[in-house]
Amino acid sequence: MYYTNILVSVTEICTVGCSHCGFIGSIRERQPEDEEIAEWVTQACDFGIPAIIFTGGEPFQRFSLLKAGVQAAAAHPSKPKIGCFTSSFWGKNPETVDKFLDQLDGLTHFYLSTDVFHQEKVPAQYVRNVIDGAIRRGIRDISLCITIAKDEEEQQIRSMYEDYGDRLLIHVDRVISSPHIEAVADTGHPPLPQHFEKSCFLHTPIINPNGDLCACHVAKVGAHKPLDKDVYFLGNLKKNSFQEIMAEADGDYSYQYLRAFGPQGVARLVSEHDGLRETFGGKTFSSGCDMCSKVLLTRKGREALRDHVADPFQQTLVDGVREARFGEARAAEVPEGVR
Ligand code: SF4
Ligand code: SF4
Repeated sequence: MYYTNILVSVTEICTVGCSHCGFIGSIRERQPEDEEIAEWVTQACDFGIPAIIFTGGEPFQRFSLLKAGVQAAAAHPSKPKIGCFTSSFWGKNPETVDKFLDQLDGLTHFYLSTDVFHQEKVPAQYVRNVIDGAIRRGIRDISLCITIAKDEEEQQIRSMYEDYGDRLLIHVDRVISSPHIEAVADTGHPPLPQHFEKSCFLHTPIINPNGDLCACHVAKVGAHKPLDKDVYFLGNLKKNSFQEIMAEADGDYSYQYLRAFGPQGVARLVSEHDGLRETFGGKTFSSGCDMCSKVLLTRKGREALRDHVADPFQQTLVDGVREARFGEARAAEVPEGVR
């Protein structure tokens, strides 16, 4: 199975208010029903995805949805791993932490967002309370997710948790630049293929609270605008089943190009396309996702990719990479009328 996890966003609501938050300015009104979350999780498990990771917004701000999703995953015969992102805003004291965790049987992995942005709003002690509660309950994996704008922030945050030693997993990523964040340009790269990797987070698709099933976490921008024309949009679970949407994605060469070549492929597209080079060539980007999303969320970027992959030679290259790297046979015909 190529897909290692799926993110399930149970809500876009969050009142923590981090300055780097991708939801700033969004409407954040979309909510599924408990039964829908349970159904979508079950369909993802039926498809064979081995790990379900709940996210938001802040999933603990819509606890009944989170609980419904965790219960559906825990009840599935495939016994998936079950993870959850949180800011730990609810970790006021050990008693409160236990009260929440008592209702989330089956959770195997916590992803705790802790960085200079979150810690302006959530005291590190709250995060430590959640870590201690998770350890008490035997939750096997506890990851600290540290998003940095400047290199020195990594050590600043690591030092708050040093006493846990190897018990914690650490994941560090660069913040995606936005008008709300200063000082990423000096650590960024121009959109040239040699600066970017061939692979990225496409093995982790995401379900948004309105049922949109999308290629990767960048689809959280769906909180601001409809996604259905975007490269990252695969389908909507209120209209089609998980299985049907993934069958169509199999023949979608824009999506398959990203799977085959990742952000390096997007940088190559920019280098080879006059219009894109003119718009993006002089800019720098903090990460592959920053560059990929800034280019492909524009109409010009989307159309350039669509034209690029309409070329049978490019399709042959994509098919070749899929076969060699993922062991996948040539893409199937796109089923009619799925989208
Ligand atoms: S906790 Fe997450 S969703 Fe909430 S404001 Fe911070 S980054 Fe945004
Ligand atoms: S590089 Fe692009 S396709 Fe890959 S995870 Fe980032 S935004 Fe998604």
